[in-house]
Amino acid sequence: MKPDDFPKEIRDHLLPSHAGRMMYRCLGCQQEYGIENLLYVCPACGEVLLIYDGDVDQLKKFPGEHWQRVFDYRKMLHEPALKGIYRYHEFIGPVVPLKAIVYLGEGHTPMVEANAALQQNVGLRFYFKNEGQNPSASFKDRGMASALSYIQYLLQSGKVSEVLAICASTGDTSAAAALYASYLTSQITSAVLLPHKKVTPQQLSQPLGSGAIVFEIPGVFDDCMKVVEALSETYNVALLNSKNAWRILGQESYSYEIAQDFEWDVSRLAVVVPIGNAGNITAVLSGFLKFYEAGIIAALPKILGVQSEHANPVYRYYLEPDPAKRRFEPVTVKPSVAQAAMIGNPVSMPRVIHLVQRYNQLAGGQRVFFVEVNEQAIMDWQLTANRNGHIACTHGGESLAGLVAAKKQGIVDGADVAVLNSTAHALKFSGFQEMYFTQQFPPGFNIKPDTALINAPVYILPKDLKKAPAPGQPLSAKDFKQFVDRTAAEIAAVLGLIKK
Ligand SMILES: *Cc1c(COP(=O)(O)O)cnc(C)c1O
Ligand SMILES: [Zn+2]
Repeated sequence: MKPDDFPKEIRDHLLPSHAGRMMYRCLGCQQEYGIENLLYVCPACGEVLLIYDGDVDQLKKFPGEHWQRVFDYRKMLHEPALKGIYRYHEFIGPVVPLKAIVYLGEGHTPMVEANAALQQNVGLRFYFKNEGQNPSASFKDRGMASALSYIQYLLQSGKVSEVLAICASTGDTSAAAALYASYLTSQITSAVLLPHKKVTPQQLSQPLGSGAIVFEIPGVFDDCMKVVEALSETYNVALLNSKNAWRILGQESYSYEIAQDFEWDVSRLAVVVPIGNAGNITAVLSGFLKFYEAGIIAALPKILGVQSEHANPVYRYYLEPDPAKRRFEPVTVKPSVAQAAMIGNPVSMPRVIHLVQRYNQLAGGQRVFFVEVNEQAIMDWQLTANRNGHIACTHGGESLAGLVAAKKQGIVDGADVAVLNSTAHALKFSGFQEMYFTQQFPPGFNIKPDTALINAPVYILPKDLKKAPAPGQPLSAKDFKQFVDRTAAEIAAVLGLIKK
């Protein structure tokens, strides 16, 4: 549809006009800073930052229903810059002009409802939101689209030139960073730091393929993060980890999409998110809060954060019911199939503490919950989901295992509808499925494959067959017919087929 075809009261808002007055705000000392320079921590106190729009009240001059309609109509508009996360431009990055927006197909990922059998098994209605269907096959693309669009804006307005973008990663951040940076390749060089042997071969192939400079260092993600922080404090580099608050803004789109997909009624929803560095749950909380405060949604959904018992610092923090007595303690991680969330000292913890408190306060009671699951449950539920038509990664399995645990604890019940984040594509983590199916998990994982879930290929080579096909050696017509007939007969025997 062309702008002229839209209702009059929508037309003026189809293309965003609100420029906002965005600024960094320190979660420690509340100091505010302009966004002309890239900041990651407060120069005064060293605490992490979030970005606020000082003019957000101008958006509240219109009722929530107005923005609902604008976003609904924007679905029909053919404006590439607004096709991804920037459909919600006013709430994500109002300072970023359309010509600076990098759109590579991210966002608006499908929500797939579980089939009746799986819903019955779990005890409530639920959907997977397939973040693996983003361009680099994880939700990290949402944050990168925002961070790199902002950097492109700085480049176009001459505020910076020749950016070196850098990040530490459990795999997916580097894949997304390298992809988005490669789109701006003439102006941005990207370098990524990965923990040696702690990312899957599929994940490693992604930044390599995008042309990033890839460093592997010993240790785990937390060690990489310290090195990257040291680099960003000492040298002139653009940090693309979720410490960069622009990443958080982009990832808020996940909440906005859920609100829109449920026709703006999220009162019965439970949104389930696996937690690693805690950037994603920060964004999910922040997104729902912003839409709530703007009157676009009338209630705040339940939020359920899930951690593996092998990397559970956030869960442990909230075990203490008395907020005054809570103390954050980093943990030493153990091997986890939810490897992209294998983080013991989450950078966004102060943001989580701040937002959870605010979220529960505005909701008028506890609406944010944390549960812990074991490695066995993560694998078993991932495989079970995928046997029912899903493409969940191990972290999607973690979400489902978390939902099951929450149901047992009475955090959710049959009247809730859950949206589970399958944060990446199953194929990125297929190595864990293979370890399960071949019963080769190293002992550190503590996983005993359930034989009912194991699957393996069956090799068919009939014993009495004299000749089998091989590359470049075609069989005679007679031998080939024999090969086909004998092989078909053997498969039919395995399957127990009955002749017509
Ligand atoms: C990054 C990542 C997570 C964890 O998200 P955080 O924002 O670090 O909490 C979970 N799953 C996948 C697949 C990831 O790439
Ligand atoms: Zn500060």
